[in-house]
Amino acid sequence: MDKTRLPPSPQIDWKDDGTPESTVVGDVYFSVEDGLEEARAVFLAGCGLPERWSGRERFGIGELGFGTGLNFLATCQLWRAHRPSDTAKFDFVSFEGFPLERDDAERALSRWPDLGAHAYQLMDKWPVRMRGVQRITFSDGVSLTLHVDEISEALPRAGFQADAWFLDGFAPAKNSAMWDDALFPQMLARSNQDARVGTYTVAGAVRRGLSEAGFEVRKAPGFGRKRERLEAVCQNRSVPEPDRYGLRPFAGPPSKIAVIGAGIAGACMARKCIEQGGRVTVFDEAEGLGAGASGNRLALVMPRLDVDDTVIARAALEAYIGARSFYRDFKGVASVDVQQVSRGVKDGEKFAKLRADPPLDETLLGFGADGRLIHKDALVMTPDKLLPDLLSGATLRLGARAQIDVRGKSVNGERFDAIILASGMAVADLEETSWLPLTARLGQVEYAETDKVETSAIAAGHYGLAAGQVRLWGASFEPFEGGEINVSDAAKAANANALEGLGLSDWLDLPEIRSRAGVRATTPDKLPICGAVPEFGAALDIFAPERKGIHVDEDMPCHDGVFVLGGLGSRGFGFAPLLADVLASQLFGGPLPTEQDVAEALSPVRFLLRGLKRGQL
Ligand code: SAM
Repeated sequence: MDKTRLPPSPQIDWKDDGTPESTVVGDVYFSVEDGLEEARAVFLAGCGLPERWSGRERFGIGELGFGTGLNFLATCQLWRAHRPSDTAKFDFVSFEGFPLERDDAERALSRWPDLGAHAYQLMDKWPVRMRGVQRITFSDGVSLTLHVDEISEALPRAGFQADAWFLDGFAPAKNSAMWDDALFPQMLARSNQDARVGTYTVAGAVRRGLSEAGFEVRKAPGFGRKRERLEAVCQNRSVPEPDRYGLRPFAGPPSKIAVIGAGIAGACMARKCIEQGGRVTVFDEAEGLGAGASGNRLALVMPRLDVDDTVIARAALEAYIGARSFYRDFKGVASVDVQQVSRGVKDGEKFAKLRADPPLDETLLGFGADGRLIHKDALVMTPDKLLPDLLSGATLRLGARAQIDVRGKSVNGERFDAIILASGMAVADLEETSWLPLTARLGQVEYAETDKVETSAIAAGHYGLAAGQVRLWGASFEPFEGGEINVSDAAKAANANALEGLGLSDWLDLPEIRSRAGVRATTPDKLPICGAVPEFGAALDIFAPERKGIHVDEDMPCHDGVFVLGGLGSRGFGFAPLLADVLASQLFGGPLPTEQDVAEALSPVRFLLRGLKRGQL
């Protein structure tokens, strides 16, 4: 079979002393002498740690070969003991093509019971088995960004800058796929000046590859039975590629951030910025939180699964996995197994293909006897509990329309370092963003109070949710021309009809069924929007040759510090955490929580370049 959607599992043998060994490669995951001491000698000391992060507010490490997470945990231990300040952040970006099961990692690590708090957290939040990027956050300002795929696929798509590299991909003689010549220029392109490299191998190809790419390489005394190891330093940073999509990091971390919109997009954005140390003010013209589409009594987070591993499929999958991991620490979040039933032949065929080659493993994706999808451990949210919790620590300015000056970077006359436009359709009211192709849709749901119910969710386009003392169903998705937002009997009837189709017609007998409608901002390609706002006129001038099919390799001119987070359609709760994380990483200089091409596919710039290519602009 060609490449499967799920990443391949490693084939492991356990040595008598408990060291895991890959039977495919014929090499151990870490030294049989003492893996932890080896990590400390080869990678930590080899990269000049902890001295090199002293005085830094942010430090990034790239690792090739995540394996059991031992190197990560050894570094966390050192970070905890020598964290440069209480606010400093440590970003560990690792790559793994053959992810271990949690139990195997736990077994391998059981030899070192003193690895500390991060070891417990890692076991608790062990990465899910899927191709793509996942972000796990830890205490003490630590984040792990794990890229799961063959290194030749994953590294070129990764967006981050490293201050140190741990090259830990088995012995080069036994595992040439990891140590291909193409690796070293890719590393250089992701290295900060003076970035250090540590590895146990002194293989000629590695020395040559590093030095030809621009690293200064030297041998150092090896660990244990190994005579020598390598250390290297990045001497010549490569010239960055042109930034066509406006993904470049913001100049220095912003301290004052304005978020426009107190729905789920704004709330996730505020939270991510606060976690990064930003001071956030949230503006909304409504008096309360989630007054628009985010304010239904319940909301569902379930995955949109596609049959092929496209950029769009990655975006949807990573958003879902990111949302599950992010929300679990907040109020108003309940786990649920969502039953996704087929709507007909097309769904049936799609579900069968997903079953034959699933993108998630059986802990997250099951199949019912009738072929339905079961999204295990998905989420039902109670927005009126979740939104205030996400926004704790933010200053709220509610009840008046914010006056936004994009060029002056001010809101209601107050200057901010960064402004995030997360106000649904209102984003298009600003001159600078009026060109974005946002279309309004009206989403109506019906709901009723009941006795306390077991949490449940069933979906087939429409859905029926039960949690706490609420049952809720819908939603309509009708074009909306503007004006007053009203609920309609037609939408109520359509929702009732759909509920019957889901086998929940008894809900229609509940007393006091109420309706609520909210406007959703949608995009023509059905993907949300997150990224820097291009300077439309200047961008049209620079990229004009694209109209004639000529590719322009230039930086996209963007409004300084102004970003959009919107176009979330009916998937706001599912997409908002990933999108907010993408913007937070750009604002605060951390690693991207998704692939670069996914970030490009989400960027507002895509509509500009697409419009030029199609001769529409
Ligand atoms: N750093 C790990 C730890 O702390 O446990 C040990 C890493 S182990 C020596 C090498 C890792 O590289 C394995 O987990 C293996 O699956 C991964 N690997 C090997 N070849 C790879 C490839 N071509 N692409 C991606 N990952 C690869």
